[in-house]
Amino acid sequence: MTIRLYDSVAREKRVFHPQDPSRVTLYVCGPTVYNRAHIGNFRPVIVFDTLFRLLRFTYGEDAVIYARNVTDIEDKIIAAALETGEAITDITHKYAAIYADDAAAVNALPPTVVPWATDHIEEMISIIETLERKGYAYATDTGVFFNVPQMENYGRLSGRKLEDNQAGARVDVDLGKRDPADFALWKLAKPGEPEDAIWDSKWGPGRPGWHIECSAMAAKHLGKTIDIHGGGIDLQFPHHENEIAQSECAHGEEMARYWMHNGFLDMAGEKMSKSLGNVVLLNDLLKDWDGEVIRFAMLSGHYRAPLDWTGDLLEQAKSTLNRIYGALRRVWEAEDGTASDRGVLKALQDDLNTPIALAELSRLAGEANSAADRKDETAMATARADLLAAGQLLGLLTRTPSEWEHGADSDENARIDALVEARNAARAAKDWAEADRIRDQLASEGVEIMDGATGATWRRV
Ligand code: AMP
Ligand code: ZN
Repeated sequence: MTIRLYDSVAREKRVFHPQDPSRVTLYVCGPTVYNRAHIGNFRPVIVFDTLFRLLRFTYGEDAVIYARNVTDIEDKIIAAALETGEAITDITHKYAAIYADDAAAVNALPPTVVPWATDHIEEMISIIETLERKGYAYATDTGVFFNVPQMENYGRLSGRKLEDNQAGARVDVDLGKRDPADFALWKLAKPGEPEDAIWDSKWGPGRPGWHIECSAMAAKHLGKTIDIHGGGIDLQFPHHENEIAQSECAHGEEMARYWMHNGFLDMAGEKMSKSLGNVVLLNDLLKDWDGEVIRFAMLSGHYRAPLDWTGDLLEQAKSTLNRIYGALRRVWEAEDGTASDRGVLKALQDDLNTPIALAELSRLAGEANSAADRKDETAMATARADLLAAGQLLGLLTRTPSEWEHGADSDENARIDALVEARNAARAAKDWAEADRIRDQLASEGVEIMDGATGATWRRV
């Protein structure tokens, strides 16, 4: 029952103890919604969804509150609005909806709360005011800044010393910063910026900095101290470091008790990123691959390690899932059994070790096959329950074997069933020419017939 998580602050795995087991809180930095997200952006979505599933299993479905925000005001969104002439809300609503659909396609459960930054401007202003009152923030002609040297233990998450950040840097004179490490809490509006990107404040009309958005939303929805804060490793510095600085200096308590970071998704050894131009959009990938195959591929690496995204990885994932669904089909008609295997759960409890969890899932498929070979009804019922319970934890096996192999179009499936029947009849009558003709016809439609001990089944390839 013990969960161990690698905490980026402690730099080691720690036993996870929530503050309140009846209200376990998880915050993950969400997307900036101004374009379609690439598959690298979905690594944290899938990784932390798997954590969400593990926590729900452990503490109860209603005991876990998972917030993943939408950053709907930010420099890149303003740039997109200026470029296209579209209203900011049109841009953000469009891309937030695509993101939510894509996340659902890879079986990510909807988070408990999806706070939008622009609904929390008041809360952000209130934190900035507190920081100013406590002497951590100061106003200039361009905005309000957090004064990093005021915070005693700044940098404990990333391990960067203040001097590292200052080395070689020069104070940005235009912004009026006191220290190069200082960062914006509030940015005063510049001439020509769209009206819908401007809010009033005592410092003048403007908009919040990116970091303060998360500090405000996490505190409002989850509390001043949350259990787990997650995101990609690139967010560790400066984003998360600055979230810590703002929240802890304003609230006087620890922001998050465990910090978790996923490694990069790479393409040919380089981080997938828009600026490098080596991106694959999930939206495009979903045209050729089932979302569950993409999720399986993503979970095949440990979340902290870099993962190289290749066609081979997807092919592997697909063939392994086909095998597992094939095993599930063989025990599908068994009675309802009770899941008792703990292999997948144990792997996830050890800092989300998904490569081992997937190996355990394959082992369960092997057990299903062997139970079916022996025609052991009790073992078949158990294997079915074990596979489904493990699938639930991993966000896999969400389809029936028939849906997986045949797709959801029932008229079309009935037509193929009839052809397979006709082929069976031809074989029984030793009409090999007709049997081959039907097989070839189906093959040309992308349907493969699999002859087995218990008769012929089929699947789309
Ligand atoms: P962004 O929209 O760039 O703020 O990214 C959204 C989330 O995706 C953040 O948690 C990033 O850390 C994460 N992310 C971006 N690129 C990658 C990548 N290549 N691999 C893994 N995570 C990434
Ligand atoms: Zn954040």
